[in-house]
Amino acid sequence: METITRARMEEKLMSQIGRSKSNLNVDPKVIHDLIQAIEDQKDSLVKLILDLVSINSLLGNEDHAQNFIEEQFRSRSLAIDRFGINHDELKKYPGYSPSIGDWENHENIVGIFKPEKPKGRSLILNGHIDVVPVGDERLWTNPPFEPTIKDGHLYGRGSGDMKAGIAAFIVAFDSFKKIGLEPAADIFLQSVVEEECTGNGALACLQRGYKAQAAIIPEPFNETIMSAQVGVLWLNMEVFGKPSHVLNANHGTNAIEGAFVLWQHLKSLCEDWNNKKNRPAAFSNSEDPIKFNLGIIEGGEWASSLATRCQMNLRIGFFPGIHTEDVIKSIEKNITQTIQNNPELSDLKVNLLYGGFQSQGCLVDLESDFVKTLSKCHTSITNAEPDFFASAATTDARTFNLYGDTPATCYGPKARNIHGIDECVSINSVIKISQVIAVFIAEWCLFNRLSK
Ligand SMILES: [Zn+2]
Repeated sequence: METITRARMEEKLMSQIGRSKSNLNVDPKVIHDLIQAIEDQKDSLVKLILDLVSINSLLGNEDHAQNFIEEQFRSRSLAIDRFGINHDELKKYPGYSPSIGDWENHENIVGIFKPEKPKGRSLILNGHIDVVPVGDERLWTNPPFEPTIKDGHLYGRGSGDMKAGIAAFIVAFDSFKKIGLEPAADIFLQSVVEEECTGNGALACLQRGYKAQAAIIPEPFNETIMSAQVGVLWLNMEVFGKPSHVLNANHGTNAIEGAFVLWQHLKSLCEDWNNKKNRPAAFSNSEDPIKFNLGIIEGGEWASSLATRCQMNLRIGFFPGIHTEDVIKSIEKNITQTIQNNPELSDLKVNLLYGGFQSQGCLVDLESDFVKTLSKCHTSITNAEPDFFASAATTDARTFNLYGDTPATCYGPKARNIHGIDECVSINSVIKISQVIAVFIAEWCLFNRLSK
């Protein structure tokens, strides 16, 4: 492995910035100092991610992690706004998804920075603190909430998705003070709940009044800039069969088998929607961006009885521009037709329950000054043009773009196995993302020198 001395690194940095400086307004010396400040804070960046990953923040259990974030924000003299989700109030707003629970101590945290002499454009740096379930823990090499580092990667549930992203923007913010500067526009650092099931955490921030001239969400999208994201609908399909002893199976209908036939036919709808001719341009090169997922199935009561009931929890993807009500209509029609066309299913009764995501897709304006500036900042650090990524998953970016009058995209580190087993994030990539965000703050928000 090459040993890079500090002088050699400085040289490399300056030539890197030199090549791209013409595209940015920020003084190359400031860019250099910000990059160096983050390089110097590498250990605290890693420590921050380790601390965050070691706090289990599964849905409904986010308060310990949020306490930690609150402390972090306080220690940086940010004003703190901590608030829960008022569902009765929030459901009046577009973008609301039916809640799947009501938890105490389930709050968003916003750290508010207001400069003494504002002169630049405001910015939201947003990340979600909630993580998805770990799956069967026996499949993990190390326990998911006991983070470990191996081969330049930090492992643990939520490492990539997206505690590293939150740490990256906190350290990017820190780098200004380290070099005697402060950003010259309002910056809101948000740590939100419920991104993984409804997006109501980000929506609650918006309804509380948090808007800005741009928002960056460092979701683990491999250093690409998100150009679009699909819509997502969650659906519980409850299927009732006709009970019978297994010896009279011909006279009954097994709810589990019936539900499975319905699911197979729904998947043909998914194939239709993926058809190249039905796609928005942003997704023209993606491989099957529309996914239907059968995430949970439960049913049946006795090994020798036909199952009377089966419930499937489904996740349905769909393209931007399509309304959730139309998706619901298509799903209901598909189920009705399957039952009509298959006489053996005629005794099935189906109940559709909607809870969780009812989230439309969205497109990001790649011609906006925001995305162009972010692209240039990416190039200033990586020496390469950014790739754009049309996401087959949803993120809180939709809330800003569709309802918040705040142009938003996702731009975050390289990660592996998000939502899977042995999730991990590349430490070098997190450092890079933090540096790009710092340069973006300098370019977008501008900065003032701190008086000594
Ligand atoms: Zn995420």
